Amino acid sequence: MNVPHEYEKRYKFDFYSYRRRFKYPLSTSHGDWYVREGIILRLSDENGQVGWGEIAPIPWFGSESLEQALDFCRQLNGEITLSNIDNIPSILPACQFGLESAWESVIAHPYLSYLCPSTPLTYSFLLPTGKAALEAWQIAWNQGHRTLKWKIGVANIEYELKLFEQLTQVLPPSVKLRLDSNGGLSRQETHQWLQVADSSGIIEFLEQPLPPEKFKAMLEMSHQYSTPIALDESVATLDKLESCYQQGWRGIVVIKPSIAGSPKRLRQLCQQWEIDAVFSSALETLIGTKAALKLAGELSKCDRAVGFGVNQYFDQDFNIDCEQGERAREIRVTLNN
Ligand code: MG
Repeated sequence: MNVPHEYEKRYKFDFYSYRRRFKYPLSTSHGDWYVREGIILRLSDENGQVGWGEIAPIPWFGSESLEQALDFCRQLNGEITLSNIDNIPSILPACQFGLESAWESVIAHPYLSYLCPSTPLTYSFLLPTGKAALEAWQIAWNQGHRTLKWKIGVANIEYELKLFEQLTQVLPPSVKLRLDSNGGLSRQETHQWLQVADSSGIIEFLEQPLPPEKFKAMLEMSHQYSTPIALDESVATLDKLESCYQQGWRGIVVIKPSIAGSPKRLRQLCQQWEIDAVFSSALETLIGTKAALKLAGELSKCDRAVGFGVNQYFDQDFNIDCEQGERAREIRVTLNN
């Protein structure tokens, strides 16, 4: 077989795990999240060209665990080829994303950006969960955000519906609000939320009301209300996205590129199907964020805000597992640019 040279070219591969504390825990129906852990990747070729990537798994959301990703990085023994990258199994979607985007960044030359026209993006701002949203929306509004997102399914529904009513009274009518229960509602609660959402007129969509195993129920309900349902956990990886599509889902899907899997396959799927996608953060560092936003810019087809308004959640502080002074400095510069 005539293997193209580029496919077997060896890159030096280094990786550094990191821990990053949230300023305040991110509360979802899965529980409270305190520390974001992930892996920074560095590829370099023999000409000294360097590229960066990030593996930012969310195991409770459907990706591999940090330990699985670290095992994968270790067994590479400091070296990788494009052929290795193309053969990462789909049970390691965050590894696929991290390594493929690191490879794209090492081969990227400035002139390549002409080939990838990018849609200008608007951002959705993640409000704090619960009552704090009643004040925090003003900060977002003053920063120019017009799409806001609020987590529900965390406290009991009577309380949350009451808060929602207060929220709709203070929000300017031009705001679009996304509700996200992370699969934490019952069927009956989903009907309740869809009813109030329909009558409020400010809900852009209700995200993942039921857990992924209740797919049929969500598909049915998506035809019963004018408020759309968006799938998120159900389509966490590209394998799952394909499966939902094949079972008839044509509605909105949230794509978190960092855990979805291979960017190459994501591009193929988006070309093959008309996908109404909302691109969203997996709370990765700036390295993963840039790669994810690049994909969002390439692949966003409609004017939906991307879910990357999450900087307010992080401390500047980073804990990077890197002893070498020079390299540690290099990583910090990359993380801040
Ligand atoms: Mg979500």
